[in-house]
Amino acid sequence: MKLKLICFDLDDTLWSTKQVMMDAETGVYGLLQEIAPKLTEQYGDVMSLFQARLGYWKAILAEQPQMRHQIGTMRRRSLAHLLGQVGYSETEASAISEKAFAEFMVLRHQPVYFDSALAVLKTLSTEYPLVAITNGNACSTRLGLDNYFSRHISAEALGVGKPEAAPFEAALDHFGVSPEQALHIGDHPHDDIYGAYAIGMHSLWFNRKGETWQEQDFRPTIEVTSLKQIPAAVQRLQRV
Ligand SMILES: [Mg+2]
Repeated sequence: MKLKLICFDLDDTLWSTKQVMMDAETGVYGLLQEIAPKLTEQYGDVMSLFQARLGYWKAILAEQPQMRHQIGTMRRRSLAHLLGQVGYSETEASAISEKAFAEFMVLRHQPVYFDSALAVLKTLSTEYPLVAITNGNACSTRLGLDNYFSRHISAEALGVGKPEAAPFEAALDHFGVSPEQALHIGDHPHDDIYGAYAIGMHSLWFNRKGETWQEQDFRPTIEVTSLKQIPAAVQRLQRV
């Protein structure tokens, strides 16, 4: 089997999403203490502000499910809503939420990479075109990973996310590669592994926590518990 393309999930495949998001939320909260004190007086810590924002976010999605991939817009909108509730004008709320979002995006792009993550990208990128496919709002270009990734495909830009076929097909079509010549690497059994399986791509499950595979109807082509196992696993797949 000649492998011609490797796609990569980002969040929880290359870094801990929980950690980078908590760091970002904490940093944004610190900024809001300076530029929106009425808000941080109302919501006395990061988590209570986060929960309030999430509550509004969910209410919007219940009415407008098509917004679910527009996570940047939703983040700005939910914060602006809370700012309005504590007495900021629409103009003030909009300006503050833009600043908060800009700070969030700076911090969002300062992840602590898992062991071997960058080394594995470097190794694989010498042999295969790599494509980042994400449902989140981390951008491979902004991460400084353009040396490794040839393309970046996001649900936010595409309007459709994994496990739908469209993001995978966008990668395959760009390189003129058929599904069976491509491998998708990710941590999520449904979004990543089912998504790849459903269109006939090979899949590699990064099972960082050593969990038991639960799905009966499909399974990953390859499973690893450490990123550093990936290059050898890809080589074995290449020999099949
Ligand atoms: Mg993931």
